[in-house]
Amino acid sequence: MNRHSLEAREENLLDTPAASGAEWLARYSGAMLNVFGTPQRVLVRGAGALVWDADGKEYLDLLGGIAVNALGHAHPFVTSVISSQLATLGHVSNFFASPPQIALAEKLLQLTGAPEGSKVFFTNSGTESNEAAFKLARRNADGPDGPRRKIIALEGAFHGRTMGALALTAKQAYREPFEPLPGGVVHIPFNDADALRAAVDSQTAAVFLEPIQGEAGVKPLDAEYLRLARELCTEHGALLIVDEVQTGVGRTGAWFAIQESGVLPDAMTLAKGLGGGFPIGALVTFGEKTSALLNPGQHGTTFGGNPVGTAAALATLHVIEQQGLLAQVRATGEHLKAGLAALDGVTEVRQRGLLIGLDLDADVAPAFVTAALDAGFILNAPGPRTLRLAPPLILSVEQADRFLAAFPAILSTVLSAASAPTAAE
Ligand SMILES: *Cc1c(COP(=O)(O)O)cnc(C)c1O
Repeated sequence: MNRHSLEAREENLLDTPAASGAEWLARYSGAMLNVFGTPQRVLVRGAGALVWDADGKEYLDLLGGIAVNALGHAHPFVTSVISSQLATLGHVSNFFASPPQIALAEKLLQLTGAPEGSKVFFTNSGTESNEAAFKLARRNADGPDGPRRKIIALEGAFHGRTMGALALTAKQAYREPFEPLPGGVVHIPFNDADALRAAVDSQTAAVFLEPIQGEAGVKPLDAEYLRLARELCTEHGALLIVDEVQTGVGRTGAWFAIQESGVLPDAMTLAKGLGGGFPIGALVTFGEKTSALLNPGQHGTTFGGNPVGTAAALATLHVIEQQGLLAQVRATGEHLKAGLAALDGVTEVRQRGLLIGLDLDADVAPAFVTAALDAGFILNAPGPRTLRLAPPLILSVEQADRFLAAFPAILSTVLSAASAPTAAE
């Protein structure tokens, strides 16, 4: 095949013909398994914190692909590192090692502050990172009072959708259709120190915590609770496993949210922002003893740790570091929090860096999301009156202000639609 015909093919594959969003969505419904409902827009292009849909409309992306696009869309440095790695060596399987994989593992061990003997396992998603952590927990079975079978997770927890991660996830609507799930997981009340004291015992293999529950509407655990969890796990020989899939990689203005409490976990799971938009996840096991729980043959992956994904993550971490984005995230986040808290109709703002949940004084959050899209802003509603923002870490104050300025009109559109008499009345 000559080069010319290959180029023509590439155009057919990647060029988006002049179809409208509505036409694309009709094709979507005809071809895509209906597990997501109908998407609200068809997006075709992005740059920084902006994206454009198939009809040419521009949006300020305040959700960042659910806390994934840490550096926004089409970041030039990440794009060039990914493409040069892909043009050099794209995939080798774990029969072989590659330099970006090794360099990224070392970088993560440095950034997490993991002690001597700590190790990294790479995955392709958050749920896979938690599956690996679940298997790690199962291997922590030896206990003084018989095998450790209990794994503790919290009410409101979201850890993913594959069977092991789903067993850790609390939401009944996600779990019930797929029972029986892997056994031994108990869910205890959120941020409740007494419930934690009562639950952790000598037959506990692990405690899984999100330092901030993102899917539950951005609910942080108290630092004292995290320290108590550390103490109890140490006392009883259970693993403290923190799920930083959403909160990690600078999202909260620290490299990892747990670091703000001073607690060192026994394992940490990562994904979402790690690859700056490229799919990659990781399990970091802290210390020699925990890292020795999984042995050759006990876990694996074909794609995990591939040169392109690990290069994307190296590039992302490099930019965050070189551009001092952690400090910028803290400043922009606090600016947004102050602005949001001052708005009529907002009853509470929960903010850590650029992970922000806000409660409205009426159950109109889903309608708000729709009206915000019409006004050119992307965010989501994890609850009936809760909105979540997880914008790119590069969001500027000017962009944040644009949303703050538009907020009152969006909310009043939603409230007047909610109170308008319907045809039936
Ligand atoms: C998104 C998320 C997951 C699941 O990640 P996927 O990449 O969707 O599998 C797990 N844990 C937390 C805390 C998350 O926010």
